[in-house]
Amino acid sequence: MSRVYNFSAGPAVLPEEVLREAAEEMLDYRGSGMSVMEMSHRSKTYDKIIKDAEADLRELMNIPDNYKVLFLQGGASQQFAMIPMNLMKNKVADYIVTGQWAKKAYQEACLYGKANKIASSEDKTFSYIPDCSDLPISEDADYVYICENNTIYGTKYKTLPNTKGKPLVADVSSCFLSEPVDVTKYGLIYGGAQKNIGPAGVVIVIIREDLITEDVLPGTPTMLRYKIHADNESLYNTPPAYGIYICGKVFKWLKKMGGLEAMKEYNEKKAKILYDYLDESKLFRGTVRKEDRSLMNVPFVTGNEELDAKFVKEATAAGFVNLKGHRTVGGMRASIYNAMPMEGVEKLVEFMKKFEAENL
Ligand SMILES: *Cc1c(COP(=O)(O)O)cnc(C)c1O
Repeated sequence: MSRVYNFSAGPAVLPEEVLREAAEEMLDYRGSGMSVMEMSHRSKTYDKIIKDAEADLRELMNIPDNYKVLFLQGGASQQFAMIPMNLMKNKVADYIVTGQWAKKAYQEACLYGKANKIASSEDKTFSYIPDCSDLPISEDADYVYICENNTIYGTKYKTLPNTKGKPLVADVSSCFLSEPVDVTKYGLIYGGAQKNIGPAGVVIVIIREDLITEDVLPGTPTMLRYKIHADNESLYNTPPAYGIYICGKVFKWLKKMGGLEAMKEYNEKKAKILYDYLDESKLFRGTVRKEDRSLMNVPFVTGNEELDAKFVKEATAAGFVNLKGHRTVGGMRASIYNAMPMEGVEKLVEFMKKFEAENL
């Protein structure tokens, strides 16, 4: 068996320890005689798995009691519709468009009401986060929407927008649990699990209770109502049971690693190794405004497409895989989520230095 250094943006690397534990429990989960995959989601054994997962997530993020945690399906993209369907009481919402995912969410919201694009960084290929300290927030906006970490472009909000009292809704798919968050600053936080938490198929929504109501847009399907899932503690129907089990293991791993403060410190150190090299390199350069750089997704280019392709090819052969940039941006992107060890980034930088010496 040989594991590679996997820099995929998602589905992405998971802690090896978690995978080993899951492998050990695959055929017989703790004396139950079956895999978690084969188990009733109404069983006592499974109930403990999902309850523990929620409790550990609450502890990690310090989630206040007036927020519900929901384990849902449909990917982060399903939330692009579910959010307006449930929260657009006045049929007005403000969107800050900082990348493809925010843009898709904005376009989806346009199907349900008046979505206003109040700021955007599209003028410079989404390479920065706009100043959000005094935006023209609509008086009757039901919420203000952001994508907090832009997976494709590698930008991250270092300060949350001033929403002038409106609930903030944030897609945190690619920065979930990468650093501490003050949950009270948000109305709703959500993310797909497959970037930084677990397997694809799980979406986690953390939502303030007063935003969960029966007053949803007419025609909203039962399965797309937050209230149904909140009232049934994420067990209205069969949840993505195995995926939640793996997420739960990652939460335990994060607790063992020292929680989100420790993860932040680790992630900062790890990202710095790569950014410092990009800043001094004569061949490679980062594509994002320095103050907006993400700790999780690091896009970079040589400025020469052929050389980019050569780099990706040689890196793959050397065991550094999935470094090709998103199809809409080109170049390279190293996603260095929580589970990417420091050593992976150190070795990648060594490899880049060697490539630079050979190709400059
Ligand atoms: C990957 C990603 C999505 C889309 O996730 P799906 O689960 O494929 O729908 C949405 N937002 C962000 C920030 C992402 O990184």
